[in-house]
Amino acid sequence: MVEGLLALRGQPPAVDTTTAESVALDLYGLTARATPLEGERDRNFRLDTSDGRRLVLKFIDPEADEVVVDGQSAALAHIAATAPLLSVPRVVGTRGGELVGVVPLAGGGAAAGGGVGRGGQGSAAVSCRVRLVSFVPGRLMQEVRSPAPAGLLRSVGTRIAHLDRALVGFFHPALAQPIAWDVRRAHALLPMLAHVQPPKLQRTLRAALDPLEQLLQRMRGLRSQAIHGDCHGRNLLVNNAGDACVGIIDLGDMIHAPLALEIAVTMAELLTDGNASLDEFPELLTGYTSLQPLERADVEVLYDLITARVALGVLIQVWRERDGAQTGSDLATASEAVLEELASRGKEDLTQQWLDATGIQSVRMGRRRVVPADLVRRRHNALGANAELSYDQPLHLVRGEGVWVFTSDAERLLDVYNNVPHVGHAHPAVVAAIANQAKRIASNTRYLDTRIIEYVERLTETLPPDLDACLFVNSGSEANDIAWRMAKSHTGHEGALVMTFAYHGITDAVTALSPAICARVPPYVEQIAAPKMAPNDNAAASTTGAAIAATSTTSTATAPLAGADIANVIAATAEADVTNAIARLNSRGFQPAALMIDSALTSTGIYDPPPAWIAPIAAAVRKAGGLIIGDEVQFGLGRSGSHFWGFTRRGYHPDIVTLGKPVGNGYPLGVVITRRALLEKFQRDTGFFSTFGGNPVAAAAGLAVLDVLDKERLVENARTTGDYFARRLKELAQTQPAIREVRGCGLMIGVELTDRATTKYVVNGLRERGVLTGSEGPLGNVLKLRPPMPFRMEHVEIVVEALNATLSASRP
Ligand code: PMP
Repeated sequence: MVEGLLALRGQPPAVDTTTAESVALDLYGLTARATPLEGERDRNFRLDTSDGRRLVLKFIDPEADEVVVDGQSAALAHIAATAPLLSVPRVVGTRGGELVGVVPLAGGGAAAGGGVGRGGQGSAAVSCRVRLVSFVPGRLMQEVRSPAPAGLLRSVGTRIAHLDRALVGFFHPALAQPIAWDVRRAHALLPMLAHVQPPKLQRTLRAALDPLEQLLQRMRGLRSQAIHGDCHGRNLLVNNAGDACVGIIDLGDMIHAPLALEIAVTMAELLTDGNASLDEFPELLTGYTSLQPLERADVEVLYDLITARVALGVLIQVWRERDGAQTGSDLATASEAVLEELASRGKEDLTQQWLDATGIQSVRMGRRRVVPADLVRRRHNALGANAELSYDQPLHLVRGEGVWVFTSDAERLLDVYNNVPHVGHAHPAVVAAIANQAKRIASNTRYLDTRIIEYVERLTETLPPDLDACLFVNSGSEANDIAWRMAKSHTGHEGALVMTFAYHGITDAVTALSPAICARVPPYVEQIAAPKMAPNDNAAASTTGAAIAATSTTSTATAPLAGADIANVIAATAEADVTNAIARLNSRGFQPAALMIDSALTSTGIYDPPPAWIAPIAAAVRKAGGLIIGDEVQFGLGRSGSHFWGFTRRGYHPDIVTLGKPVGNGYPLGVVITRRALLEKFQRDTGFFSTFGGNPVAAAAGLAVLDVLDKERLVENARTTGDYFARRLKELAQTQPAIREVRGCGLMIGVELTDRATTKYVVNGLRERGVLTGSEGPLGNVLKLRPPMPFRMEHVEIVVEALNATLSASRP
């Protein structure tokens, strides 16, 4: 007999559905239909209530320790507070507000005859504790056999990490419960080894447990906290397609233990149950570390933890059988096969694979640090005290990787702000392309070079046929400056049309076209008002014919409309806007040379109007003899998710396209794309040459970015992740009144908040929680979410949770 260890011995209490239904009514005031569910220790029923809700009524194992029962309630309450969006059971109180209720028993073994009893043992007890929790939808992962559908293991990792993060800070005496499966208690079960048959299995188990002493020693130094401790295929829920983990149930085995044990348990159980293979574990670890970094020491104990856990499972079975319990015999066979496979793959190789998958070690997530005052002072002296610096506590970034950035003291932050690292910070393919070319030659466009030509050919392939030639500079500002010069020279006009609060760059000429930074817009510039979604129409998506009200210089918000009426109202308002703007230019003696427009309408406040909006604007500009310059610095290269070019989504055909920020993924590169005739005239007139513009290193970077976009299907990702992001934010808007509207598309999303101060508070609050964002719009009240393109759904969850926490926190 093994003293003091907790393991399954008997069966859950025997309760019939009639009793479950009457307990639902008496204790919780619910009229419900009960359907039995599986449960290892508790007797569970799904309740379908008369008001359409689904819940789970649990008749708790009568042998469960009072402290452990209380610990589960406390843990669920903690998670409800720290991760309200995580899909785990939520406790529903009794009519009297208790988290755990007590019901009288009708005698032992009463499964068929009504009442509550102890199944299988027939021992009479006096009462049974019950807990009502929300029903977590999904099906058991156990039904999914290895190899799992693509993405499942990654999402399992992410879910578990989400739960572990939610459990940080939780403590309860129940976390010390002596669970038999806790590897740290394996000593108590070692005497069972002698009873293991056949001898070959016994030898395999001995070998697996051989490093136990050393393992326990190393575990003492690992980061520990409350962990679920039992995330296997019977406690993990997946969606119908079986490709995403959607929930976690049963916190009955929670313990305070190293984080590494959480993952090792999952790995061991998924292997023994046949739900995953060793080859799928890198994916699991990538998913886990996308939310919760692991340290080298955590990964280095995984192999020994897995083997010990698998061996322990067999010892527990032997113990229980000797104790008279009925157990299945498959476990020993499956465990032996798993241990043999682990041994044949080898600890060293597997550990290296896992270390590679985790990538990041020794980092912390989103904790506030103080940047040395000395560095800020030196910067003031070197760059001028007014050089813009983000955040009151400035960030000293030393490294980036994908969607993450790292500070000098190893803080890890999720980058939801920067679009320059379009295909991800420090993308290895882009870095290699830049380095390889820099090693050869960094010349200029006065010499022949194949890369820049190839780049133009690749770019123009994706564009309308008339946009067939490029000119290269080093920034978006320069590209817009050149485009503006071309438009003036081509049309002979001097006037400009831009969007309200537009931003097009820093040269003298384009600053004048940027009301966002130009205090006094010159008389040759006129502004067109932003298209405006109807306030509070959060569910609307502009592409599906959203209810739109237009504000303009001539009209203010109108009531939401539907269908074709919307397009008519938008078109009529836009037409009035542009006609008036051109008339005002004319009255000051100017004809429009061009409309310059950022297709994402970023600084204007991030809008996503349907093509009906721009059609009359484009027509009026052309009628007045002006060109259209599509500034694709923000929206180009697929950020909208629906189109590679922002102007295609917007619905206009530009004469000149300008590119900047994302095209070189951090390497300076600006591009002007136009009709060859227009370009050649400009070259003839000006003898244009830019020293760095279009140099072979920039071309190599540009080509690598196009390759990665294709290879990693990042435009498609921008669509699916962007849709999901917008949906989750709109859901959040239902419970957070500070969110007025969610708009934009793909990975360019604007969240309009009540005012500038709230937005500033939110940007800082998100930074405190490890998320980088910014603000936009004439009123500074639009939270700008514009991450690198490899942004995935798990990252969305981090942002939504951090935003929810920030908006829920009481403001100073
Ligand atoms: N146009 C738009 C729409 C931009 O957002 C920016 C930069 N934020 C620019 C032009 C200027 O680009 P750069 O800073 O590379 O000069």
